[in-house]
Amino acid sequence: MQNASPLQASAISADSTEFAAEHDLGLLRDILRLLPTGVTVQDEEGRFLLINDAAASQLGMAAGPAGQFVSKYLDERQKHGRELLRAGRAAVVEMPVAGNGGEQVLLAAHRPVDIAGRKLLLSSSTDISEQKAVEDHLFRSAYFDELTGLPMRRVIEHRVQTLIQRSEQRDAFAVAFLDVDNFKHINDYYGHSVGDALLVEVAKRISLHLRETDMLSRISGDEFLLLLNPIESEMDVADYFEATLQRLKAPFFIDGSEIFASTSIGVSLFPDHGRSYDALLQNADIAMYRVKNDGKGAAALFDAGMEREALARMKVEQSLRHAILEKRFCCAFQAKVDIRTKEVKGVEALVRLRDEEGIIQAPGTFVELAAELGLIDDLTHLVLAEIVRSIDLINETFGSTATISINVAARQADNPEFMRSFADALEATGFPRRFMIEVTEDAFVTKRRFQEVVVPIFRNMGVGISIDDFGIGYSSLSALADITADEIKIDRSFITDIHLRPRSQGILRAIESLAEALGMSVIAEGVESFEELAYLQAATRIRYAQGFYFARPVFLEELNLVVPAASESRVSEMSRPAQQSRNAYSSRPGRYRR
Ligand code: C2E
Ligand code: MG
Ligand code: MG
Repeated sequence: MQNASPLQASAISADSTEFAAEHDLGLLRDILRLLPTGVTVQDEEGRFLLINDAAASQLGMAAGPAGQFVSKYLDERQKHGRELLRAGRAAVVEMPVAGNGGEQVLLAAHRPVDIAGRKLLLSSSTDISEQKAVEDHLFRSAYFDELTGLPMRRVIEHRVQTLIQRSEQRDAFAVAFLDVDNFKHINDYYGHSVGDALLVEVAKRISLHLRETDMLSRISGDEFLLLLNPIESEMDVADYFEATLQRLKAPFFIDGSEIFASTSIGVSLFPDHGRSYDALLQNADIAMYRVKNDGKGAAALFDAGMEREALARMKVEQSLRHAILEKRFCCAFQAKVDIRTKEVKGVEALVRLRDEEGIIQAPGTFVELAAELGLIDDLTHLVLAEIVRSIDLINETFGSTATISINVAARQADNPEFMRSFADALEATGFPRRFMIEVTEDAFVTKRRFQEVVVPIFRNMGVGISIDDFGIGYSSLSALADITADEIKIDRSFITDIHLRPRSQGILRAIESLAEALGMSVIAEGVESFEELAYLQAATRIRYAQGFYFARPVFLEELNLVVPAASESRVSEMSRPAQQSRNAYSSRPGRYRR
């Protein structure tokens, strides 16, 4: 073989000379010495007969007195070698060492052999530090949260399940969900890096007061799961969480900002509130839901009453899902009126649900829930579909130039994907310029994405943008300056009895002049009485209004059947205003037709 290695060549050479043999031996020794794999040979006493360069380096050897090598691992290796030789078995072991190249992990293969009547241990060792680092990283990322370093859900789940198996239902422990309130707002307002830093700080504040046997885990964005094990009494648990709440309420100092956050906590106890991991979690979640609904920033221990509530809620959820599937929605339409000319400027579509018993429900009972359940996008598309279906009736009732407003929830407005699909659907109607979308001010102020990505899409299509319920949200007047909208709808709370309330009058004037400067039209919501209207006409330059005084929301089919006006009379009691306006039913929208 032409290209065979010198070692092979010499091994098959039949007439090798003494010189060649010696030469080959020297060559072999050099090869052995320089092999990139560590090679050692030990005798029965574990003494090293041979250590090549790679092995010396791996074992962190330095030359000692009289040319001896010294390494803190030698003794250990000798002992191990003796044992293996005595047992006469091969072994492959991982060995962490601090070698000449720093912290390393070696994979060493040991093999006892008999050569020329001597028992020897041949060992080879490879540096697998890099591979180990990758494995460790994979392990950590499978079980530990990168941001906070806390164990992930599966770790705490395993721990709780082990506790349940071992406890024989005797040893009590607590499981708690902790959720940072309004974290999305904090993230939107301060940015994601501050949001992340806040989560790390929250994790630290909780962890500082845990025992070795407790465990905190981050299970999703702003949600933590805590295991308190063991617990003595309900009282202890309540005290612990009260203290935790206080600690988490103290301001956080991040990136030069002082951030106030609060946390909602739902707790369940083993074995009283569940004998499985799933049951405990579900009940802690139910307790947490109660806290969120009662105004957040508190802790609650699960109880049976909560379970009944949760079941009732689930029923409502189910019926809402059915309603979406069965498209049991319709729209009431309410006119926007020019208060000087009494002409209809536009019309707002207000969604209604027809429940299983055929009773019409107002959006107050289901819109928020639909948003929580991720059903709101479907609902908005259903509203648009109904508008398209009713366009002839809309034109007949309100005039063919009346704008058509659709409400969009703030969380939809912040979702460019949905908003694009909605924009496409508006375009597909063939009359996108007739539409306005009404969004509450939160969408503008805290969600830059809406302002920068979504608004331009709609403006380019000629769809108007309206700020709904203005004045009760998060924005300040100065924030208005950055907003590009076409219309501001002043919330009803400012309009009610406006003629009697000088403070509201002042606010109204301020909003009015700002809107004027920014080229937005102003519309007063919820005008119910002649006095309110008279004030708006006499003391302001506000041009448009909407309210029961002019027209209630109406179902168009019923109007056209000339049922005596009260088409909203079937709206369930909950949605009906406490005080009925004298004129509410007297003015048919048709009266305002051009
Ligand atoms: P909004 O968009 O501010 O609509 C005005 C609400 O005030 C309507 O209640 C309307 O019936 C009521 N209203 C109008 N004039 C008067 C008045 O003079 N006095 C009183 N007391 N109330 C008046 P509605 O129909 O119950 O809707 C409530 C909210 O539900 C709406 O407030 C809107 O935020 C939301 N909504 C309605 N339809 C939809 C929809 O299709 N999608 C979404 N995301 N939200 C919707
Ligand atoms: Mg609206
Ligand atoms: Mg409104």
